[in-house]
Amino acid sequence: MKSLLGIGECMIELSSEGGQLWRQGFAGDVFNTLWYARALMESDSQAAFFSAVGDDQSSAELLAFIENAGISCEHIPHIKGRVPGLYKIHLEGAERSFSYWRDSSAAKQMLQDPDVLWAAVSEADVVYLSGITVAILPDEAAEILINGLRGALKPGAKVVFDPNIRPRLWAGEERMKDVLTRTAAISDVVMPSFEDEQTTFGDATPLATAQRYQALGVSQVVVKNGADETLFVEGDEVRHFPVPKTRGVVDTTAAGDSFNGAYLAEFMTSGDIDKAIAAAQCCAATVVCNKGALVAFERVQNAINTTKAG
Ligand code: AMP
Repeated sequence: MKSLLGIGECMIELSSEGGQLWRQGFAGDVFNTLWYARALMESDSQAAFFSAVGDDQSSAELLAFIENAGISCEHIPHIKGRVPGLYKIHLEGAERSFSYWRDSSAAKQMLQDPDVLWAAVSEADVVYLSGITVAILPDEAAEILINGLRGALKPGAKVVFDPNIRPRLWAGEERMKDVLTRTAAISDVVMPSFEDEQTTFGDATPLATAQRYQALGVSQVVVKNGADETLFVEGDEVRHFPVPKTRGVVDTTAAGDSFNGAYLAEFMTSGDIDKAIAAAQCCAATVVCNKGALVAFERVQNAINTTKAG
């Protein structure tokens, strides 16, 4: 039995149903990854989320949604007087834009008592976090996370990090690059998206991105690159995995998150890189062909089973 812990923020999502009608959902990058990992992990494996919620009705609904998906929230602290972050998706034709209300969200306080996090971390075989996790934390809390995480791991446990670079969440570029780099340096596996890395760090190629992370001591780097091939690098091993042609792409929201979730589920089960990347690409292809961040478990399970059977 394996256990995966994701550390991050899950927000209330409001998407337009037309006019003044809004539909409530829940999403956030680390949670999205857990969602797909949970859909594809073996049933006796565990997925758990660490964040913080408030003591209001919306926080209770958010927790119920996550737990209904089979993801444990048992370690999540409840912060008095706080509420979850919220975002609205505006649709103009096929164009999406977002408004966020997350500056005072409960999740920013998740490190209020670091020992609560360390207790959750000590139970996990894989701890997953993203650049958004460290971006939303107050500076002092981000430092506690970066400096304490490895010491709280159980022997043999791994840290997996997706830099998921979002410049608007950071006060300045230097701090963003510094924190992302130091978080990568405490990670065993880094799963970046090339476009973001190229824009922020000026990498000429996906291999340059992988080598920059390897130079920090990262063992395994999986570089996603949209519809272009996925690069896998570990030690001297460099492998290229073309992305199967996908027709009917409608919404690339959560493509990278779903890729990571499926990769983790397969990697934690079999440790087989070929199978893990095939599952990841298949899961992400299913997600980009559906609207919204979260595609129903059954749909991604069917897609993966069909690929395996083929
Ligand atoms: P990204 O984070 O944009 O690099 O995308 C993550 C993953 O989603 C990629 O590695 C692909 O497996 C998948 N993906 C993204 N865009 C497409 C696309 N247009 N067609 C097929 N797969 C895609």
